[in-house]
Amino acid sequence: MRKWNFCAGPAVISEQVLSEVKDELLEWGDSGMSIMEMSHRSKIYDGVAVDAKQDFIDILNIPSSHEVLFLQGGATHQFSMVPLNFAHNNNADYVLSGSWSKKAIAEASKLTKVNTIASSENHGFSYAPSEEDWKYSEDSAYVHYCPNETIQGVAIHKAPDINNHLIADMSSVILSEPLDVSKFSLIYAGAQKNIGPAGLTMVIIKKDLMELENENLPNILRYSKHSESDSMLNTPPTFAWYMAGKVFKWIKQSGGLEFFKEQNHLKASTLYNYIDNSDFYSNPVKIENRSIMNVPFILADNDLDSVFLKESEDNGLLNLKGHRSVGGMRASIYNAMPLEGINELVDFMKVFEAKYG
Ligand SMILES: *Cc1c(COP(=O)(O)O)cnc(C)c1O
Repeated sequence: MRKWNFCAGPAVISEQVLSEVKDELLEWGDSGMSIMEMSHRSKIYDGVAVDAKQDFIDILNIPSSHEVLFLQGGATHQFSMVPLNFAHNNNADYVLSGSWSKKAIAEASKLTKVNTIASSENHGFSYAPSEEDWKYSEDSAYVHYCPNETIQGVAIHKAPDINNHLIADMSSVILSEPLDVSKFSLIYAGAQKNIGPAGLTMVIIKKDLMELENENLPNILRYSKHSESDSMLNTPPTFAWYMAGKVFKWIKQSGGLEFFKEQNHLKASTLYNYIDNSDFYSNPVKIENRSIMNVPFILADNDLDSVFLKESEDNGLLNLKGHRSVGGMRASIYNAMPLEGINELVDFMKVFEAKYG
């Protein structure tokens, strides 16, 4: 029996998508084979791939100034591919607002001079440095930030307006609401949070930026080479790409990103409101920086953590354990988690509080 899965990633996928995949698993259409047994150069697969790309462009309203790439290596690979291409003989600005931007900085530091232009590390990443405090460097190649820190549940909700290339790790927030893609020169996201199965990494790159890439790199590290080959420079993650396409169609049919924005804000506020009105649970993040996708919370008595996890699991609420680096609990509530799942979580939290609080 399927239960409510609050895992940060790989994460919950719409049941409608999973059951379509199940129906098609042995034979795609009347092709005589499974989609995962098919050449990525075949006509059928090409149709699937092109459709997925177009649906992604449609739901995010991506302008023609930008290219969409279906890559591998995860967001982690972008931590190095970005500086390798654009800061190899330069320096780059990074905002430090949580564990993932810290990792991005660590990787980039091996390849270029990193200017950490704002940081909330001394305050345990309980908020994100506000845009007025970002001390941009004069000659940096780009500005990198993470709009949604998955581990701390810390978000920067408004994209800054800058005169430099803006690059964002949107792994855990992409497709959660409408986005003005034109503000960004590069957006990347591992698929396993809000898109589909692991193995696929989405990149949206401004063509102007792509022209500035480091031409001395091997092809596999060059955005333009992926672009010229329609993301089929080598064998792409065909099954993950196909499933992502199904998720994009499901988003479209559900009412697009406006629908998910409304849903996600309702889900998040239901959970935050309950936590804020309780003396037993608390969320450490500054209100204006609270994530709508990842909601960390702590119990008044952390000796009860293991009891909470055991009883929540017994009640069909899975993967609520916070990241090992921060402890406590975390509910990741991506697009595929319906309001019903949040209501059941809150009901369980009330019962638990009454019993142990
Ligand atoms: C999960 C995550 C990553 C790491 O993604 P991989 O695909 O495992 O490399 C990086 N950044 C953010 C914001 C994430 O949520």
